[in-house]
Amino acid sequence: MSQKEIPYKIYLEENETPTAWYNLRADMKNKPAPLLNPATHEPMSKEDLAPVFCEELVNQELDNTTRLIHIPKEIRDFYKMYRPSPLVRAYCLEEKLQTPAKIYYKFEGNNTSGSHKLNSAIAQAYYAKKQGLKGVTTETGAGQWGTALSMACSYFGLDCKVFMVKVSYEQKPFRREVMRTYGASVTPSPSNETNVGRKILEEFPGTGGSLGCAISEAVEVAVSTPGYRYVLGSVLNQVLLHQSVIGLETKAALDKYGIKPDMIIGCAGGGSNLGGLIAPFMGEKLRGEADYRIIAVEPASCPSFTRGTYAYDFCDTGMVCPLAKMYTLGSSFMPAPNHAGGLRYHGMSSTLSQLYDDGLMEAVSVKQTDVFAAAEQFARVEGILPAPESSHAIKVAIDEALRCKENGEEKTIVFGLTGTGYFDLVAYQKFHDGQMDDYIPSDEEIAESLKKLPQF
Ligand SMILES: *Cc1c(COP(=O)(O)O)cnc(C)c1O
Repeated sequence: MSQKEIPYKIYLEENETPTAWYNLRADMKNKPAPLLNPATHEPMSKEDLAPVFCEELVNQELDNTTRLIHIPKEIRDFYKMYRPSPLVRAYCLEEKLQTPAKIYYKFEGNNTSGSHKLNSAIAQAYYAKKQGLKGVTTETGAGQWGTALSMACSYFGLDCKVFMVKVSYEQKPFRREVMRTYGASVTPSPSNETNVGRKILEEFPGTGGSLGCAISEAVEVAVSTPGYRYVLGSVLNQVLLHQSVIGLETKAALDKYGIKPDMIIGCAGGGSNLGGLIAPFMGEKLRGEADYRIIAVEPASCPSFTRGTYAYDFCDTGMVCPLAKMYTLGSSFMPAPNHAGGLRYHGMSSTLSQLYDDGLMEAVSVKQTDVFAAAEQFARVEGILPAPESSHAIKVAIDEALRCKENGEEKTIVFGLTGTGYFDLVAYQKFHDGQMDDYIPSDEEIAESLKKLPQF
């Protein structure tokens, strides 16, 4: 098919959208390492996880064999409000770069939460409701996950209690108001409402909090309140499973026009959007049916893949969660106040960690000011104001397109544009005022944090 017949935006018809999530683990020879009980170091069983997570989500978390998992009608109905998301050919960016490469991006910012996180939030809220629960607790850093979960909970009539990292709570009052609009209660973390919060406040008075600390608080409230469970917006296998809608739609759209990508690029915080985007492509790679370059992009200030260690670690500061084997900088690693809040987690999805360790994907880290320069370049030609997290993928897509120009290669690049940056304008302001720095942790700093990994 000639290029002209390919529309600028590829949308799928309703009957072309996925009816099942794809569980990549089913095709992995080396399965991701199991979650371990922090006390016994034995794999977490269904019974161990049941007090913390919703039942059906525990099943999905532990299922390494079922390839396709049916998407319930209620969730598909909700998806229809904002999905399928468009796969856009970045003609204007290609023109600007004068590259022979073809660039496509899958845009997940077309919903009120402004990111891909709603794909999993609605699934998790659905299963909580189906189990007859009253509500859920969670943490949020930059606020995107809390916003997505608030929307999902209000849709199903569930209570939603969000522990928001205190610095974000103070810096992003508008995110907080969106959550409250959807009926969520938002508490700055660390708080006086939990034992772990009080302990952290005593030890570090005046702390701005961290994701790891907010997770500990949310888990404590979930397990000590009848009818409540804890839900998480990234890292876990179940979240990657739900996010596979991104990749399945992308693949269906490309297949519809006979387009075969050479490389697939995504930003990686806990790994959920990247894991979802690459899922069906990685599946083909694992089954030996096709080959792709798959690139994870992380901030140089929080480089879990590129400078971390593959080991069992705590998922939270309070050490109440199960241990996960992952590329990690250590749970005591305190990332510099980078403006891509969604990428400031010390660890990485255990599924992606295993794939990376097996050499099936690459990772690069990029500096914050370079990311914002790429974000601005993209916004000016493609019209979308990208989230700082998403702009990590933009930066590397541009770099690869420029390499194609140097080498005269007509490669096809697909990247994930995970969200919009309207709540991140303070970061853009810092960039424009020349007040943004590129803090990169020293080897000593990382080594110090890794010393505190659990030993067994
Ligand atoms: C949360 C977030 C990310 C990073 O999370 P992953 O789980 O790694 O996908 C990326 N982009 C946006 C817009 C986010 O909100």
